[in-house]
Amino acid sequence: MAAHTPNPYPEISFEARMNSAEFRVHSDAHITLDDTHCRDCTVRGCITACPADLFVPTSDGGIVFNYEQCFECGTCYLVCNEEGAITWTYPEGGHGVVFHNS
Ligand code: SF4
Ligand code: SF4
Repeated sequence: MAAHTPNPYPEISFEARMNSAEFRVHSDAHITLDDTHCRDCTVRGCITACPADLFVPTSDGGIVFNYEQCFECGTCYLVCNEEGAITWTYPEGGHGVVFHNS
C-alpha cells in the first residue's frame, strides 16, 4: 500500500474562505470589467478561476462582476484572454481585503 502523503493545501470550503476575510470596501472599484469583450470570449476563465466567485455569467452572454469581496489575488487578470476586458489595480491604502486566522 502506498504511503499516505498529507495534502499541504487542504480543501477550504467557500464559506470558510469568505468568513476568514474582512472587506474594507472603497467607493471606487479597484477592478472594473468591460463585459462587451466577454461576448466574444470562449474561455471564460474568470468564472472558474476567481476564488471569491465574483464573475457571474448572464443569459445574454455578458458577465456581472462585483469588486467588493475581492481577495486581490490577481488571478482574473492573469487568466483573462481578452485585452481590455479587465482593468486591475489594488484598492487605495487602508481599503480592501484583510485576512484573519491566517
Ligand atoms: S476571461 Fe475575460 S473576457 Fe473572458 S469572460 Fe472573463 S473577463 Fe470576460
Ligand atoms: S483579483 Fe482574485 S478575488 Fe479579485 S476578482 Fe480577480 S480573481 Fe477574484
